[in-house]
Amino acid sequence: MALIVQKYGGSSVADTDSIKRVAKRIIDTKRKGNKVAVVVSAMGDTTDDLIDQALSIDGNPPEREMDMLMTAGERISMSLLAMAIHAAGDRAHSFTGQQAGFLTDARYGAAHIKAVRPDRVKQALSMGDVAIVAGFQGINEDGDPTTLGRGGSDTSAVALAVALGADICEIYTDVDGVFTADPRIVPTARRIPHIDYDSILEMASCGSKVLALRCVEYAQRFKMPLHVRSSFSHRPGTLIVPEGVDPRTLPNID
Ligand code: ASP
Ligand code: MG
Repeated sequence: MALIVQKYGGSSVADTDSIKRVAKRIIDTKRKGNKVAVVVSAMGDTTDDLIDQALSIDGNPPEREMDMLMTAGERISMSLLAMAIHAAGDRAHSFTGQQAGFLTDARYGAAHIKAVRPDRVKQALSMGDVAIVAGFQGINEDGDPTTLGRGGSDTSAVALAVALGADICEIYTDVDGVFTADPRIVPTARRIPHIDYDSILEMASCGSKVLALRCVEYAQRFKMPLHVRSSFSHRPGTLIVPEGVDPRTLPNID
């Protein structure tokens, strides 16, 4: 049995049909005998829409209120996903960043994770439930919600995987992994089956936006294997593994 963290980005949970599809995928992973913790982003363009709403009221909104607002996006997707898993006949429990034990510094809008103490997530997993955690958010020393910066859910997922001692962190997106060029623009782009952290960091700094840079650095520091793959297909994606690790030994790669 493996412990797998799956992160679903905004495009994978853009509407309720997508949420049902993702729920099925999570249940399939669990029924293969794995424990599954999930990190979700806000649905589709929710975060952008929330920002637009705030700015239409106040051109310079208070940072604390902005983070209070932004964390609402992931609460919607996490609870709907838990309901979809329940409706499909399995058990899930959703947690805010605070409930999942994400402690951050006080930098609203660009907070850094100081510690992750996922006691309630562990408890849910030990009961056989799927644990669903709101990405992109934590809580500061004053007990106020903070956000990690745009695209921060990737980092939430890796930090959770490290804190749980997961076997792999799967990052689900709308393309089949990391390509030599953007496959939506360059039709001859090839998927990279596996790659090490340094090489992906070089690609990221050359402008190919596959993963948040901070998430790869975090994974490298703690040697957490990543699998970037599509939630719209069952094809293997790109494995990002520490040097010397045989990718074939990792769970749920096909
Ligand atoms: N929902 C947040 C954003 O759009 C976090 C994320 O998607 O990773 O930036
Ligand atoms: Mg998003």
